[in-house]
Amino acid sequence: MRVHHLNCATMRPLGGRLIDGADGVLRSAEMVCHCLLIETEQGLVLVDTGFGTSDVQDPRSSLPWAFRRLMRPVLDPEETALRQVRRLGHDPADVRHIVLTHLDIDHAGGLPDFPHAQVHVFGPELRAATGPSAPWRYRPGHWAHEPDWIGYQDLSGERWFGFDAVRALRDLPESILLVPLPGHTTGHAGVAVDTGAGWLLHAGDAYFFNGEMAPSPHCTPALRAFQRHVDTARALREHNQRRLRELGLDHPGEIDIICAHDPVELRSHKSARADGNTA
Ligand SMILES: [Zn+2]
Repeated sequence: MRVHHLNCATMRPLGGRLIDGADGVLRSAEMVCHCLLIETEQGLVLVDTGFGTSDVQDPRSSLPWAFRRLMRPVLDPEETALRQVRRLGHDPADVRHIVLTHLDIDHAGGLPDFPHAQVHVFGPELRAATGPSAPWRYRPGHWAHEPDWIGYQDLSGERWFGFDAVRALRDLPESILLVPLPGHTTGHAGVAVDTGAGWLLHAGDAYFFNGEMAPSPHCTPALRAFQRHVDTARALREHNQRRLRELGLDHPGEIDIICAHDPVELRSHKSARADGNTA
């Protein structure tokens, strides 16, 4: 199973060191949207989508003003998953499945670029985002094309390293599973992939900074505040973040954990192979 690590959106919020931990405060920081493109016998599988063509071409209608002002998205068409799938030599129609960690703006924006894909998501997230009182963080325009949603409710006792898991995603191999990690959003989930060389767990926004997975956990002040500002269930988020850290520390070399927005993690996975794209 081949896994490509893609950055499908760059954001440059002001705050420098307070956000990314590198030198200098009076500069923009770097945040990415780390997505995965997995080649399987059932076709291409995309894990998260970053921003899509409509966000890049018409951000004023697609992305809320406050989000654009705070996060300062770069909006480069070359970063869309659509363009990157093509650059890798694939037909975008071959992306048959999209598995989402959650439906926030910066994770679901690329959905309209793959209108025929089945979209797998944890059921509570689907309800929260598409229900009548959906909060501002969700953009109905990202699913105005009425995707082929597959929402999962039944955890039916499946366990993965002590975590609840949905192991049988419809029409997908059992080597890809959904691991509910609620807290950041109502139905937030990680996506675990058995790459053949160990497990890769995309933890979405369950944490934001690589230091949060370290034995002595630490986070930059702005990212710590941001996570608190946008979470929907704080105790649950902090509990799941703790469990993730323990999981990684208990299984070094067996489980590789990544989050969506950390540029250091993305670069280390991109450079793990000589061609710069695969894990
Ligand atoms: Zn995010």
